[in-house]
Amino acid sequence: MEEIGLIAKGKSLKKGAELKRNQYCSTPFSLPISKDMEDDLYIRLKELERKLEVLEIQEEYIKDEVKNLKRELLYAQEEVKRVRAVPLVIGQFLEMIDEHSAIVAATTGSNYLIRILSTIDQEVLKPSSSVALHRHSNALVDILPSEFDSSIQLLSASEKPDVSYSDVGGLDVQKQEIREAVELPLTHGELYKQIGIESMRGVLLYGPPGTGKTMTVKAVAHHTNAAFIRVVGSEFVQKFLGEGPRMVRDVFRLARENSPAIVFIDEIDAIGTKRFDAQTGADREVQRILLELLNQMDGFDQSTYVKVIMATNRADTLDPALLRPGRLDRKIEFPYPDRRQKRLIFQVATSKMNLSEEVDLEDYVSRPDKISGAEITAICQEAGMHAVRKNRYIILPKDFEKGYRTHVKSDHDEQHWYK
Ligand code: ADP
Repeated sequence: MEEIGLIAKGKSLKKGAELKRNQYCSTPFSLPISKDMEDDLYIRLKELERKLEVLEIQEEYIKDEVKNLKRELLYAQEEVKRVRAVPLVIGQFLEMIDEHSAIVAATTGSNYLIRILSTIDQEVLKPSSSVALHRHSNALVDILPSEFDSSIQLLSASEKPDVSYSDVGGLDVQKQEIREAVELPLTHGELYKQIGIESMRGVLLYGPPGTGKTMTVKAVAHHTNAAFIRVVGSEFVQKFLGEGPRMVRDVFRLARENSPAIVFIDEIDAIGTKRFDAQTGADREVQRILLELLNQMDGFDQSTYVKVIMATNRADTLDPALLRPGRLDRKIEFPYPDRRQKRLIFQVATSKMNLSEEVDLEDYVSRPDKISGAEITAICQEAGMHAVRKNRYIILPKDFEKGYRTHVKSDHDEQHWYK
């Protein structure tokens, strides 16, 4: 810039000098100019002309230089594009060492000290963010968005299950409890504040399989406006070390960003089993996932409305740390249905079915077999299927009998089969 300024100055000086000279020459009757003075001016003009020449050469040179640099820039940009185009390795940024180098953890499990591409905006680079590494040099060449390669997603409005509380037969106490523990704190947070109690953070649903745990949570998801995240415990167990804990963090980050939110972790026994002195790396990884889960459940502050629901068939194997108050405060049992519950579930399951008047559901309700809600639904389905098979529009008691027999094997039947 300075040089260009100089050039401009030089040009105007030249013009000025010529003008003056013409003035002197064209006005013969003006003040007499001595020969010395004219010489002086002439020398000065010559000097300035020389300077101008130098500046012009410099200008030429700089123009060339700019052209070269532009070409180089284009070349460098192409190079960056090329570097980013090859298949890249995904890693996790850990920390900066200095301006040009950092430590990253590659998905292979080892940490590397690598160089950072100078075009990367280092402001965006945060610990544990996903980054792309060059395949051979492992240099950090790109920063990936935080949701990248995370399989955790919010349940969108259209995905919300179509199950309402009235579709769940019986389980009145359980429904009431889960509403108190999960729905009310999200919708009427100020009520809890007025009373002066802290709302619960987590709820554990436990009981034998098929007793309606998942179904109740589906109803909760259907009725609430809160964001809903559903994960299965086994999803956290990933191929690479460190992926699982990261997924746990992702789940809670997503929940916090979209609060009020409900996180539902089904089959928590996949990761929440009692800790022991693990020998293999895989066991240790599962324990790390559990630790991260505990940490996240403690971590989020009470003001952000995030509730955690967990469900399991094996509450007895869960780690005591998970069950302590402050994490899973409320434990709701889903037992096998008693007579009254059975009746309600039968009613719900058959509410849309075309039953003949002869069908007496009470007969099946009063049978002493220990059957779950899922089995009751299956019996009703089977009865319907049987009627369809026989080309009937009405379901008769014998259909139900058939359904009951297929799904509930009494001890007597089993012995008979062995004989
Ligand atoms: P789990 O307790 O193992 O999570 P689910 O909630 O998934 O069991 O129940 C499985 C199926 O059983 C449901 O899809 C539903 O059809 C049926 N079911 C279980 N309990 C009930 C119930 N109380 N009312 C109506 N259907 C039920």
